[in-house]
Amino acid sequence: MGSVERVGAAIDLRETDRVPVDLHSFQRAAYATGLPMSQVFRDGALLAEAMIADWREFGHDMVLLENGTGCNAEACGVEVHYRDDTAPVAGEPVLRSLSEVGELQVPDPYVTFPMSEILKATRILARELGDKAWICARADQGPMDLAAQLRGMNEFMMDLATGEDEQLIHALLDYARRVATRYAYALIECGGRSTSIGEPMAGPAMISPRHYRRYPWAHERRMVKELRDQGIILHLHICGDTDRITDDFIATGAPVLEIDHKTDATRAKAATLGRTCLLGNIDTNLLVFGTPGEIDIACEALISTCKQGGGFILGPGCALAPTTPADNIHALVESARRYGSYR
Ligand SMILES: [Zn+2]
Repeated sequence: MGSVERVGAAIDLRETDRVPVDLHSFQRAAYATGLPMSQVFRDGALLAEAMIADWREFGHDMVLLENGTGCNAEACGVEVHYRDDTAPVAGEPVLRSLSEVGELQVPDPYVTFPMSEILKATRILARELGDKAWICARADQGPMDLAAQLRGMNEFMMDLATGEDEQLIHALLDYARRVATRYAYALIECGGRSTSIGEPMAGPAMISPRHYRRYPWAHERRMVKELRDQGIILHLHICGDTDRITDDFIATGAPVLEIDHKTDATRAKAATLGRTCLLGNIDTNLLVFGTPGEIDIACEALISTCKQGGGFILGPGCALAPTTPADNIHALVESARRYGSYR
C-alpha cells in the first residue's frame, strides 16, 4: 500500500497495513540545505527542494508544508522577521484598535507574499511527490493566532479578559478565519491533499477553556464545516496540553486533530475513537536530545495506545527543531513499520 492510501485510510478511521507517519519538518528541512533559513522560507522553489530532500531521506507518509508562524500575518500587512536559526516571527501588530477591523482586506493568496511562495512550493511538491506522499499544505495561522498577531498578543489578551468589545473581537476572529479559509482553498487548488491551521494561542496554556469556547471555537468550527462541505480536510493543531478542552477540540469537527506531547494520548484516543483521526505526539525535545533507542521505546508505547481502530498518524507533537538528529528521525519513521502493523 502506498503512503497516500495509507494516510487517507487513517483519516477515514480505517485500519490499513500499518500506522502512517508524518514529519513536521519544515525547519529541519530548511536548516539541512545549508542555506540561510531566512532565504529558504521566502522562496517557494527552495522550500520545495528542501522538503523533497527531507522526504527522500526519511520516506515518511505525510509531508507537512509551511514556512512558519508568520505567513498569514505577513500577507495581512504585519512585518515579519526572518531568522536563520528558527521560523519567522511576527513583529509589530497592524491594528491599533479593534474598531479598525472593518478596514482589513482578505489577501489574494495567489499574488500576496509569502502565501504565493507557499503555493509555488505546494505545486512543486504535488508534481514531484504527489503520488508518493500525502501533502498537507498548511493554511497557518488559524483565527485565534492570526487575530492575536494582527492586534498584538498583550492587547488581544486584554480584549478577551475585559470582554467589553465582544462583537469586535468576533469580527476580528471572523476576518482571520476568512483569510485562512481563502488561503486553504488555494493550497488545495495547487495540489495539497489536506490543509491545517495552527492555533497555539487557543490552548489552555494561553487562554482558559471558557475563553476557548467563547471566542475562537465557533470560528474554527465554521472553517472546518465550510471546507468539509467542499470535500476539503482541515487539520486543527493546538500546541501544549489540550486535555482540558478535549470535548470542544473534538466538537470543532476537524477530521484530524494534531496533539502536542503534553496532551495525554491515552485519554485523547479514548475520546476520539471512531470519531476523528489523531496526529502526534512524540516530544520534540526527546527527538532533539534523546537517543534512537529512547525514541523507539516512546514510539512503541504511543503506537500501542493509539493504533486501535485506525484513525492514528504517528509523528512529532509539534514542529521539529532545526537541529533534530537524523538518526532520531529515522527511529521515529522506522517505529511505524516495526510496531504499527494492523495485520
Ligand atoms: Zn504546535
